[in-house]
Amino acid sequence: MPICLNAHRNDPKFNLLPIDQGGHGRHRCCGCAYDAGFKAGIVRSENLILDLDSLPESQAGVVRHKSPHAAFAQGYYDGVASYYD
Ligand SMILES: [Zn+2]
Repeated sequence: MPICLNAHRNDPKFNLLPIDQGGHGRHRCCGCAYDAGFKAGIVRSENLILDLDSLPESQAGVVRHKSPHAAFAQGYYDGVASYYD
């Protein structure tokens, strides 16, 4: 599985995500999950698929052990909000 090296893994906005210490998606990059959600939100997609297995892993920065589910949901929300801006 590729490792994410994007700068978003150090974005302080991800500090607010809940901790996810176990379970499916544990080491997936929350920055990439956020971006996937944002892309779905900006077009107001009504069929949401969070494919955790498609996301790179990250143990770095502020995304370490944060919930990719919450990151996706936040990204979706922010994408929808951006649509209306
Ligand atoms: Zn990433």
